[in-house]
Amino acid sequence: MNDGFATRAIHAGQDPDPTTGSVIVPIHATSTYAQDGVGGLRGGYEYSRTGNPTRTALETCLASLEGGRHARAFASGMSATDAVLRSVLRPGDHLVIPDDAYGGTFRLVDKVLSQWGIEHTPVALSDVDAVRAAIRPNTKLLWVETPTNPLLNIADIAALATLAETAGAKLVVDNTFASPYLQNPLEFGADVVLHSTTKYIGGHSDVVGGALITSDDELAEQFAFIQNGAGAVPGPFDAWLTLRGLKTLAVRMDKHSDNAELITQALLDHPKVGAVLYPGLADHPGHHVAAKQMRRFGGMISFTVTGGEQAALDVCAKTRLFTLAESLGGVESLIEHPGKMTHASTAGSLLQVPADLVRVSVGIEDGADLVADLLQALD
Ligand SMILES: *Cc1c(COP(=O)(O)O)cnc(C)c1O
Repeated sequence: MNDGFATRAIHAGQDPDPTTGSVIVPIHATSTYAQDGVGGLRGGYEYSRTGNPTRTALETCLASLEGGRHARAFASGMSATDAVLRSVLRPGDHLVIPDDAYGGTFRLVDKVLSQWGIEHTPVALSDVDAVRAAIRPNTKLLWVETPTNPLLNIADIAALATLAETAGAKLVVDNTFASPYLQNPLEFGADVVLHSTTKYIGGHSDVVGGALITSDDELAEQFAFIQNGAGAVPGPFDAWLTLRGLKTLAVRMDKHSDNAELITQALLDHPKVGAVLYPGLADHPGHHVAAKQMRRFGGMISFTVTGGEQAALDVCAKTRLFTLAESLGGVESLIEHPGKMTHASTAGSLLQVPADLVRVSVGIEDGADLVADLLQALD
């Protein structure tokens, strides 16, 4: 079966219910399952921390969309991050992380894993030589984000996969910003793909979740072990909402990308805008690599405002359609100031972001309305 992406998003793991004909996967709101005699499981399920049919449907669909053999869903992107870090790393190990990693990932590595004797080195992943130089004999994991948050830097997944393999380290790609519609890291040699399904996959800012996708049977077993052993699983309603969002991922990502292209052009022409960071721009330093590994360039744009921090804060305060809020990837447009909001925890560290930076998550409203809103906020 060689169905296309949009078809798989709607059908993979989502056959009509065999007993009722329900076209949509039911919300299996149950904690436990009747057994026909001790150990006689009817559908392979015994307890909903271990497994739940609604969650299985989501996991089957996500595995299909990333081109992996296995997917495991978690209660949040961070619990998925925690699960992969704990599957791969042991005390005494070292990992390399992006020097502009997602703030929560940096916090988990820097404040929690460090307490368990796990060391890390932040590196600019766009510089393959710098990554090579950061690898030590005890490096067991290379953490990749591309595009990164909030600076939209691009890492060459295939080149880093080769490095990781030579070092005997696992390559994990946080694919949240691109979504599986725009980029499939397993194709380029990644061992594991991570998603905060809270963002583009859920797509409607109404549910928090995470997922890990891999074709490595051993890793998949460890992820299932941690799902069950630590218990940070999504409930059936969360799994169902995520699956409902996922069905429209293809059309949404195309519209996010269309609108982002319109907006970058308008920002480039504006006298109060300094740098526009968007991997779709030909002069973006990562454009060439992005064009190789991404189908389009997505809905995230960051830009600097001339006039420093206060000018950036003023823009965030003046938009009408762009809601001032953290998070991203929903149908509605959001705006934020990374230095004071999503990335406040990186202040004073290597990962600190520029004070005049504004990040927008471009929604799927009418593109012309979004351009007009940003222009009036800049004036
Ligand atoms: C939001 C996000 C996460 C964390 O996911 P949660 O669902 O909020 O726990 C991880 N990585 C990236 C790139 C994110 O944007």
